[in-house]
Amino acid sequence: MKHVHAFAAFSATTPLAPHTIPRRQPGHHDVEIDILFSGVCHSDIHQARNEWGGSTFPMVPGHEIVGRVTRVGDHVKKFKVGDLAGVGCFVDSCRTCYNCTSGEEQFCDNGTAWTYNGTEMDRVTPTYGGYSTLIVVDEQYTLKVSNTLSLPGVAPLLCAGITTYSPLRHWKVGPGSRVAVFGMGGLGHMGVKFAHAFGAEVTVLSTSRSKEADARRMGAHDFVVISDETEMKKRHKYFDFILNTVSAHHDYNHYLALLRLNGTMTLVGIPPEAIPVKANALIGQRRSLAGSLIGGIRETQEMLDFCAEKGIVSDVEVIPMQQINEAYDRMIRADVRYRFVIDMASLKG
Ligand code: NAP
Ligand code: ZN
Ligand code: ZN
Repeated sequence: MKHVHAFAAFSATTPLAPHTIPRRQPGHHDVEIDILFSGVCHSDIHQARNEWGGSTFPMVPGHEIVGRVTRVGDHVKKFKVGDLAGVGCFVDSCRTCYNCTSGEEQFCDNGTAWTYNGTEMDRVTPTYGGYSTLIVVDEQYTLKVSNTLSLPGVAPLLCAGITTYSPLRHWKVGPGSRVAVFGMGGLGHMGVKFAHAFGAEVTVLSTSRSKEADARRMGAHDFVVISDETEMKKRHKYFDFILNTVSAHHDYNHYLALLRLNGTMTLVGIPPEAIPVKANALIGQRRSLAGSLIGGIRETQEMLDFCAEKGIVSDVEVIPMQQINEAYDRMIRADVRYRFVIDMASLKG
C-alpha cells in the first residue's frame, strides 16, 4: 500500500481540498500509473456537489487520466514500465455478464466499478479518481495512449472523447448526415470534431455567439444561438441527429422539433432534474429520444487510435490542482475553452 497526494470533496457544500489516499500494491494483472494530466468533467461537479444523489465522501473526482506506467504486475502483457497509459470512467466490471462479454462494460449487469464515487468489485474498497498523483488499475481496464499527440489534449478523450464518439458511431453519423451538437463545452467541442471527421454537416446550438469562431475552426458548418427564435424556426425539421450535451435544465420538446423524419436526439448531458416530454414532440416525424453512456474499453481504444491517426485532441486550458474550485465555478458559467486539464506536477512538488 502507498499513500499519495490527492484533492477531495469532503462534502457536497465545501470546496475541494488536499487529501491523502491509499493505492494498492500492483497485483499480478495491475499497472501502476504516475498521473501526468487529469481532465475536469462536468460529471465531477454533479457528483462532488451530490446533484444526482448517492454521492459518497471523501470523494476524489477525475476520470480522464493519462500518465506513465511505473510498475507492472508479473502477468501484465499490454504494458511495460515507461509506456503511456490512460484510464477513463471505470476501472473494473464483472467480465462475465452479457454486456461485459459484448464489450459494453459501462453497462455491466453486476454494477460497473466506477473510477471514483464507487467501489472496486469487492463492493467494499472505495475507488478514488484522477485528482491524485498515482493510480493502480487492472491492465484490461487501462488504455494504450499514442506518444504522437499532445498529452494534456489526450486526457479529455477518456471521457468527453468516448462519450461523443460512441453515439455518433452507434447512430451511424457520416457523409450526408445533418448533425446538431447542442452545448459547446467539453463534450460538445469533441462532438463537433468527431462529427466533422466522420463527414457529417455539423451545426452547433449554443447559448453564446462567442464560441462561433472556435466551432467553425473545429469543423462546424453552421452556428445557431438558441435564444434567437427566428434562426431556430428556420432549422425546424432539419436535423437527422442531435447530440445533446447540455448539463443544465432545458425543455427537450423545443429541440425535438428540430429533428426531421426519423431523426434522433441522443442525450449525453445529465441534468439532475426530470424533464417532461410530450408524446406529440416524438410522434410527428417518427422521432426518437435516446441516451448514451461513455463507451466500452474496446471502443475507447478504437477512439484513441482514431484520434492518433487523425491528429484529434481536445482544446484545453491547463491548470494547477490548486485552481480546481475556480475551474468548477467557471464551468458552471460555461466559461471554459473547452476542457480544464489539471497538470499533476502541481500536486507532486
Ligand atoms: P461543460 O463543459 O460544462 O459543457 C456543458 C455545456 O452545456 C456548456 O458549455 C453550455 O454550452 C451548455 N449549457 C450549460 N447550461 C446551459 C443551459 N442552461 N441551457 C443550454 N445550454 C447550456 O460540461 P461537459 O463536461 O461537456 O458535460 C456535459 C454534460 O454531460 C454533464 O451533464 C455531464 O455530467 C454529462 N456527461 C455525460 C456522460 C455520459 O456518458 N452520458 C459523460 C460525460 C459527461 P454553450 O456554452 O455552447 O451554451
Ligand atoms: Zn466525464
Ligand atoms: Zn458485467
